[in-house]
Amino acid sequence: MSELTSITDFPKPKTVTGGCLCGAIRYQANFPEDHDFLKSSGSCQCTQCRRNTGALIFVAHTAPLSGFTFLTSTTTLKNFYATPGFQRGFCTDCGSFLYWRDESRQDIALAVGGVDPEFLSKFGFALANASGNNVWCENEIKGVTDGLVGKQRGVKWARSSEEGVRM
Ligand SMILES: [Zn+2]
Ligand SMILES: [Zn+2]
Repeated sequence: MSELTSITDFPKPKTVTGGCLCGAIRYQANFPEDHDFLKSSGSCQCTQCRRNTGALIFVAHTAPLSGFTFLTSTTTLKNFYATPGFQRGFCTDCGSFLYWRDESRQDIALAVGGVDPEFLSKFGFALANASGNNVWCENEIKGVTDGLVGKQRGVKWARSSEEGVRM
């Protein structure tokens, strides 16, 4: 176990709220008492996530679906499927990417950047420590994204190019 993943004493939220840039879509995510904030925090550097987010690294926090609720109408919500069975939820008014979800699982990977700032400032480490899985590190950009995740943290997955992600 690395030094960082042995850290357990950090502020953990019971609940967070978040939403899209225009405010049409708002959500709440509740975390159970035994939620693992280290294992549930990860990132992805695949080309799909880069194009979807416009960022070099998609920082995600996986929350149980049972604790996830929309606080607003979802009229402007659309799920885009870059791969069948994997939702990429976004607001059709402002374009904000909100979550990624494997439909075969009972959880949802929240785009941490969409979490409300008051929660990010207080619980940013719990949500974005990257101690879980850091995916598609084969796409790392040397000197830019290679030092940000996976070193001393979590599992660094270097997926192959066979899976249709690098274009
Ligand atoms: Zn919006
Ligand atoms: Zn990805």
